[in-house]
Amino acid sequence: MCKRVPFAALACAIGLCSSVASADVQHTIAKGHTIQAIANRYHVSPKAIIEANHLKDVKHLKVGDVLTIPKVDSPKKADDKGKDGKGKDKDGKAKAGKDPKDGKPATYAAKPKTPGVIHIKRIASSEELDLRISDKSGKVSSATLKSMERIMRFPSGASHPIEARLISLLGIVSNHFGSRKIEIVSGFRPYTPTQYTQHSNHNHGKAIDFRVVGVPNEAVRDFCRTLRNVGCGYYPNSTFVHMDVRESSAFWIDYAKPGEPPRYNAPNVEADEGTSDVHPAANPAPPPPPAQEPAPESTANESTGAADKESEPATKPDGE
Ligand SMILES: [Zn+2]
Repeated sequence: MCKRVPFAALACAIGLCSSVASADVQHTIAKGHTIQAIANRYHVSPKAIIEANHLKDVKHLKVGDVLTIPKVDSPKKADDKGKDGKGKDKDGKAKAGKDPKDGKPATYAAKPKTPGVIHIKRIASSEELDLRISDKSGKVSSATLKSMERIMRFPSGASHPIEARLISLLGIVSNHFGSRKIEIVSGFRPYTPTQYTQHSNHNHGKAIDFRVVGVPNEAVRDFCRTLRNVGCGYYPNSTFVHMDVRESSAFWIDYAKPGEPPRYNAPNVEADEGTSDVHPAANPAPPPPPAQEPAPESTANESTGAADKESEPATKPDGE
């Protein structure tokens, strides 16, 4: 590829020199991104990015272009051991991403096959969409907003506009993991008095529970935690990672099994939900083989939610 700065030295300089995983990642330029801001986000130097991409004109980054960010580490690995207390999950899942060959944690980062275009599937109904995230101005287009609102609807059919930044973040996740398919486990959920957190970003179209096909949730979680002003929830006994947009970043683990009240990793985590808000009863085994998928729901009877795999809370909202 290209020349790199001595990254290990840089990482140590900013306090990340524990055994960090590192790999190149892809960054799609959005409106307002500057080389310095991008460098800050990934804890690399602007020079490293400029060299890796042979950039000539850094003052005029082109929206939609994809930059290779050389040797990005995942600093949260180190945090996992300390801050979360429990560190490694009891079931050992946190170690799942290790490459047996060289012992380094696998990041699953890959060059995006379709930069800026996400492949998304709604598990509940097997609907699939390919969506271009941004238009030429770098904004999430109204067509994409509409499509996302629909594909992230609640099993009852109730829907809510989805925050553009959340959609952009899905684009970043998609690019990072080589444009692998993103499966929506849960998107919009209307407020119910029985939900475990009084406020949930799911109630406002600002959160998604998802997984990336072929990528362990631990790797998705770790990448989610590198994003700015994002809430990330990890559910070692379930099948998804939660991501939401908020004012400042938060991370939590809920060790509960489906149907159980939350068992968070710490008392004051700013959790957005408990495992059981997503799967109140049964939890589909990861990843669901196609044979288990229910028959695709027809648009006509979707308000019954009958074809949906996501089980619903006792209260059944019949609209917004
Ligand atoms: Zn969630």
